[in-house]
Amino acid sequence: MRKGKIKVQTKNIFPIIKKFLYSDHEIFLRELVSNATDATQKLKTLASMGDFKGEMGDINIDIKLDAEAKTLTISDKGIGMTAEEVEKYINQIAFSSAEEWIDKVKASGEQNSIIGHFGLGFYSSFMVAKKVEIHTLSWQEGAQAVKWECDGNPEFELSDIDKKERGTDIILHIADDSLEFLEESKILGLLKKYCKFLPVPIVFGKETEYKTEKDEKGEDKQVPYEKTRIINNTKPTWTLKPADLKDEDYKNFYKELYPMTFDDPLFNIHLNVDYPFTLTGILYFPKVKQNLEVQRDKIQLFSNQVFVTDSVEGIVPDFLTLLHGVLDSPDIPLNVSRSFLQSDGNVKKISGHITKKVADKLEEIFKTNREDFEKKWDDIKIFIQYGMISDEKFKERAQKFCLLKNVDGKYFTFDEYNNHIKTNQTDKDKKVVHIYASSKDEQHSFVDSAKERGYDVLLMDTPIDSHFINMMESTLENTSFVRVDADVAEKLIKTEDELPSKLSDDQKNKLKEVIEKQLVDKSYNVVFENMSETDQPMLITQPEFMRRMKDMSAMGGGMGYMGGFPDSYNLVVNANHGLVGKVIDEKDEETQGRLVSQLIDLALLSKNLLKGEKLTSFIKRSVELI
Ligand code: ADP
Repeated sequence: MRKGKIKVQTKNIFPIIKKFLYSDHEIFLRELVSNATDATQKLKTLASMGDFKGEMGDINIDIKLDAEAKTLTISDKGIGMTAEEVEKYINQIAFSSAEEWIDKVKASGEQNSIIGHFGLGFYSSFMVAKKVEIHTLSWQEGAQAVKWECDGNPEFELSDIDKKERGTDIILHIADDSLEFLEESKILGLLKKYCKFLPVPIVFGKETEYKTEKDEKGEDKQVPYEKTRIINNTKPTWTLKPADLKDEDYKNFYKELYPMTFDDPLFNIHLNVDYPFTLTGILYFPKVKQNLEVQRDKIQLFSNQVFVTDSVEGIVPDFLTLLHGVLDSPDIPLNVSRSFLQSDGNVKKISGHITKKVADKLEEIFKTNREDFEKKWDDIKIFIQYGMISDEKFKERAQKFCLLKNVDGKYFTFDEYNNHIKTNQTDKDKKVVHIYASSKDEQHSFVDSAKERGYDVLLMDTPIDSHFINMMESTLENTSFVRVDADVAEKLIKTEDELPSKLSDDQKNKLKEVIEKQLVDKSYNVVFENMSETDQPMLITQPEFMRRMKDMSAMGGGMGYMGGFPDSYNLVVNANHGLVGKVIDEKDEETQGRLVSQLIDLALLSKNLLKGEKLTSFIKRSVELI
């Protein structure tokens, strides 16, 4: 036996390990199982190079609990270590890297915000163990098995033992304040969380399965039987070649990742980069749900198939956090804090690259299968619009395939749409006016009038559309957007020529007085327009600028008034409509008032603004008039 002192300056490193990693004790298991995995993979590599000529045999990694002895053991059949290697890797290198790490944490002053901290490796076992033993036999011929033992002081013991099987057992004597790690359910949960996709089979306990057998009568019956429980899928779909995979495989993997989700994803992007950094993964566009926030934070981040985190903020561009799936990269530094991660150059490159790949894939689907792309558009629109608003680079790319949909359900790219409307919808300032409705039902009569004039009307009916419109107006040259009810159809697109008015100014002023008297809601502005005789006699419009201000303040988009912006409506009177002429000619004041009220209410009704008591009295008055 040999006794020694672990080479380290800090007198007692273990209290520090415990303290710094307080919130995240459970990662010790991830560290130990990934060490076991590495040792096994290394052996496979040696075998494939012809250096290791022995029998591989079963290479499973076994996790065993012993409640009585209060131990948790992680056993692998990997390369193992010789006494010299234990000295080198465990006593010197690993310990000094632990110390280095702690210095780094101290210097950064971010002890409390450390989340993903790889690199502490083996020594993280002291977060939960009061004593740790390593029993190990190297793969090399004639190697002597050794045992290393340490109880938390920088003093260790190294002695020869009798161990027949190649590989390493790490035996943790669980500390009294960490007894939860002796519970089967706890360990099972951790293994499922961190080790679900490790490349070597992980065996933990037994599980009950059922098989079908014939009973005495020859009928099928389900018979339970015990089998060893393997935790992981060693070949997760993202590690396979895209060429070998079918659509079905991607869908099945989606189900494996999100067993509680019933919808199939819309499509996926299989990432496979090896230069200038290594990144693999599969991103899924999920079917959009009402509540987007619920969908966030579903991307899982792996490092060589070891689960790291499912909060990828800062690694993936914000708009892509709405996607689902997995990313696997050993190049993302995991032993640093979140704020460091966000400013890391590598991470920025990776993030930019993911954006580019997503744009590539979308463009490819758009080009090769436009029909399918249009079918999915309503579901993916939110990702693309959000991406274009929040990411300049993505906007540049997406302008080619971002679609506009009109009220008749036809889809156009920006260029196509511009060509479609420019002859008919260019105003006197040479701006191509995009007319849109935010609700087909509520703005139905306005849509009709616009269409009668030969205009095309877009459907922009999601909350993000108002932001999107602002952005597109500032991006596209000579383009403006106006909501279909912002003005009377004639005025949506301002041209030089105006229809003459059939009413004199005097007539208008008199009628205005009558109307204002009948208006219940005094905040409406009464304005006269020279519209066509076939248009409605009166209608309600909501000027574009004021409405946008209100929309923006409601969404918290800056400039928020206390209590929000008021609604601002115009009551537009069609000076050329026959009925308006009739009302002016009416001599009986009471009848005139009733006719005006009726016209106002019809205008309100077509805008869905006539409700409650006002609606009741409208119906009563209508019946009387009939
Ligand atoms: P890291 O894994 O980051 O290198 P660790 O402290 O976890 O740091 O491990 C230090 C070294 O000890 C490893 O690089 C490896 O050489 C050796 N080691 C740890 N666990 C095992 C194991 N189960 N089998 C063989 N070697 C191991």
